[in-house]
Amino acid sequence: MAARPDVIVIGAGIIGASIAWHLARLGADVTVIEAGEPGGIATRSSWAWINASMSPSEAYFRLRAHAMTEWRRLEQQLPSLDVDWSGSLNWELPADHLKALASRLSGWGYDIRCVDATEARQLEPALQSPPDLALHARGEGAVEPLTTTHRLLAAARELGVGIVARETVSSIEVKGGRVSGVRTSSGRRSADWVIVAAGSATPAITATAGLDLPIADPAALLVVMQPHARVLRGLVMTPEMQLRQDPDGRFVAAADLQRMEPGGAAVRVIGALRELFHPPVCIAVDSHQAGRRPIPGDGLPLVGHAGNVAGLYVAVTHSGVTLAPSVGRMVADEVVTDRCDPLLASFGLARLSTGATRKS
Ligand SMILES: Cc1cc2nc3c(=O)[nH]c(=O)nc-3n(C[C@H](O)[C@H](O)[C@H](O)COP(=O)(O)OP(=O)(O)OC[C@H]3O[C@@H](n4cnc5c(N)ncnc54)[C@H](O)[C@@H]3O)c2cc1C
Repeated sequence: MAARPDVIVIGAGIIGASIAWHLARLGADVTVIEAGEPGGIATRSSWAWINASMSPSEAYFRLRAHAMTEWRRLEQQLPSLDVDWSGSLNWELPADHLKALASRLSGWGYDIRCVDATEARQLEPALQSPPDLALHARGEGAVEPLTTTHRLLAAARELGVGIVARETVSSIEVKGGRVSGVRTSSGRRSADWVIVAAGSATPAITATAGLDLPIADPAALLVVMQPHARVLRGLVMTPEMQLRQDPDGRFVAAADLQRMEPGGAAVRVIGALRELFHPPVCIAVDSHQAGRRPIPGDGLPLVGHAGNVAGLYVAVTHSGVTLAPSVGRMVADEVVTDRCDPLLASFGLARLSTGATRKS
């Protein structure tokens, strides 16, 4: 490997931005190529909850819990970042599921517990009907995903990273089993390393290097209201939606679409929001959009070397907002030192892909 690796990162969402900044800190020569405007596609419509609650396995829990501490590290390193650590109150699932989840997560050492209606009301006094049982995780938070990504990119630019917008990568170029660069809508760019952080578009790009990856992109709704006086103290997850208030007081609600069209789903979410509080809130919709969640075939992160091509690396995951600081640092370390962080070891490409059997 070159002493100063020459790296192309494809995609300027939160994952590509974090990788680029961490790589630049380690002295790599980095160019980010973005087909649209910097800020990502999934990232800009993300609800952006930072949590380790949504962890079906212990390995995934460990990675997510690590990412929560890594957000604290990133806040120290980049004081322009602003994480809202106001905790969560979750009654999205039936009570027996919530109890089982609390028991599993607290068994792994997570700071989460069941609360009754009295405590739920103390935590969120504006709720009209507090749930009989909810999970409270006081260490969870959220960021403004687009602002955060722009700040990461600005910090990367200050370290010399080139950020090229409105240029689409059409293929990865390979010579003698090693990456030699990419072909784009503007021509050819050479590189020692290509890191594909293109969210749901990742499979179309890696296929050009013979690497097939199963990634789904189910639609999800994000509704943003106009600013309102502060009503919520933290994040809440109800059976109808996930809801928080951003720093300007806007309610930000997310919901899965499950075959509903976005307009109808937005009406349902807004109705549920109006009934959630006492006194009722007077809200006006600012925007609603259907975002796409990038989800690898087994639901877990897909982060690692492509075994079939040296110098080709992939980083695509749901919960990319939660994971961005860890994935960014770990991928950068691996590219520069060739050492894979043990927390990433279970999330390599070989488990899901054809063409990824060798770890370089
Ligand atoms: C409604 C919704 C709610 C969510 N809620 C949460 C949550 O609460 N917590 C959480 O952690 N995660 C959440 N997620 C998931 C999270 O937002 C994503 O995992 C994360 O944003 C993925 O970031 P990314 O950088 O990988 O992808 P993206 O943001 O999609 O960025 C990929 C970039 O690659 C670019 N690109 C694609 N193809 C090319 C090409 N050929 N050439 C150049 N550039 C290309 C795209 O233009 C895009 O800018 C949510 C997602 C949605 C949609």
